[in-house]
Amino acid sequence: MKVLIIGGGASGMMAALSALENQNNTVTLLERQSRVGKKLLATGNGRCNLTNRNIRLSHYHGEQPEFARFALESFYVGRTLAFFERLGLLTVTEDSGKVYPLSDQASSVLDVLRFALEAQGANIVTSCDIVEVKHKARGYEALSATGETYFGDKLIIACGGAAGKKLGGSKSGYHLLEQLGHSTTALFPSLTQIKTDPAYVKALKGVRADAHVQLRKDGETLQDSFGEVQFTDFGLSGPEAFTLSRAAATGGDGQELALDFFREYGDSVLLDMLQEKREKLPELAAEDLFAGMLQSRLGRMIVKRAGLKYQTKLKELSDEQLLACVKTGKWFTLEVTGVMGFDSAQVTAGGARTREFDARTLESTKNPGLFVCGEVLDVDGDCGGFNLQWAWSSGYLAGKLGEGEYA
Ligand SMILES: Cc1cc2nc3c(=O)[nH]c(=O)nc-3n(C[C@H](O)[C@H](O)[C@H](O)COP(=O)(O)OP(=O)(O)OC[C@H]3O[C@@H](n4cnc5c(N)ncnc54)[C@H](O)[C@@H]3O)c2cc1C
Repeated sequence: MKVLIIGGGASGMMAALSALENQNNTVTLLERQSRVGKKLLATGNGRCNLTNRNIRLSHYHGEQPEFARFALESFYVGRTLAFFERLGLLTVTEDSGKVYPLSDQASSVLDVLRFALEAQGANIVTSCDIVEVKHKARGYEALSATGETYFGDKLIIACGGAAGKKLGGSKSGYHLLEQLGHSTTALFPSLTQIKTDPAYVKALKGVRADAHVQLRKDGETLQDSFGEVQFTDFGLSGPEAFTLSRAAATGGDGQELALDFFREYGDSVLLDMLQEKREKLPELAAEDLFAGMLQSRLGRMIVKRAGLKYQTKLKELSDEQLLACVKTGKWFTLEVTGVMGFDSAQVTAGGARTREFDARTLESTKNPGLFVCGEVLDVDGDCGGFNLQWAWSSGYLAGKLGEGEYA
């Protein structure tokens, strides 16, 4: 069987290796960029967080999160890591459950995939931008921007999503699927920085802090998250901001972020600590109230937002003023103005409508012989290796072409 795969990213390469496990298949992998797996090299800040030991369906989103269950449970984490180990990749698991290559280099993941594809005889065509697909009487035809045509008895669309444009992200996969009668849900960037009113964050650019972060609207908490945040000149970045960005992108106007920089300490404990400091260091300037507790610029910002003058001595501060500092340090609010766009997002939320595909095979219910995998589908995961696991699981399942052990 001739298998045509459009998209040489994580899921497309996995689909190719999966299809090649059946010796009756030949695989042609079409990639618009000059090399396969370009985005993979940028994942995990160049370290590639290739999966997570704590995969649960609750980490996945879309119109039908249940859709992802079969693929994730069939080609589960243990199986995925065993597969990569057979290709020669050694990995380490961090305490958080995130898995990285032992080399700490994303290129190791790409290397083992590329070497296996070559060894197993995949025909890889790079700089091949597919602009049109046609369902023929006996299979599928793909037409490139430069006029070449490629034929497959079966077609797998693994074009990824719109996130990370410089790394190959585009809406092309959705357009190709639309040519075959499929529809796409609303698309929006996810796992990206959250934009806020710049008034307070600009001066904090580059500051990292541990916090309990709540995304709120109309007094209600939409979602919260615990861990590292990083201030940028336009808002908030870092893993916790990424985690909340999906909800922020869809939550509409009137949202705010509330950051608790003292999540281990209650209000009264913190107040006691500040009162003790006032007693021990009466001549200290208010700007140093949080010295030893927080990053210095952040400490000064809290003092300023609490309405204190930097040069006031601690002995001159009232209990009310200290309490104002406690309140500001425990609930530092920022008005949300939006999220950064697809260019800086790690993943696309939304995609090809899952109800038009069979979750057990990833075959189209409209076009027999057409399969999809990866981010082009309306399945997106949280930050932490969940998206690549979806790419591996769905890629492996799509590569079975509705036959074999998963049929
Ligand atoms: C900066 C960054 C960091 C990330 N870090 C992580 C991480 O550490 N862990 C994690 O789990 N996830 C991470 N992600 C998300 C993860 O990389 C993606 O979810 C995953 O790569 C999706 O796999 P895919 O195969 O569906 O799409 P992609 O990997 O994007 O591959 C799609 C491929 O199809 C090609 N293509 C598209 N259209 C066409 C066409 N018409 N013709 C031919 N070729 C085409 C593209 O050039 C691309 O190579 C990160 C994403 C980014 C942007």
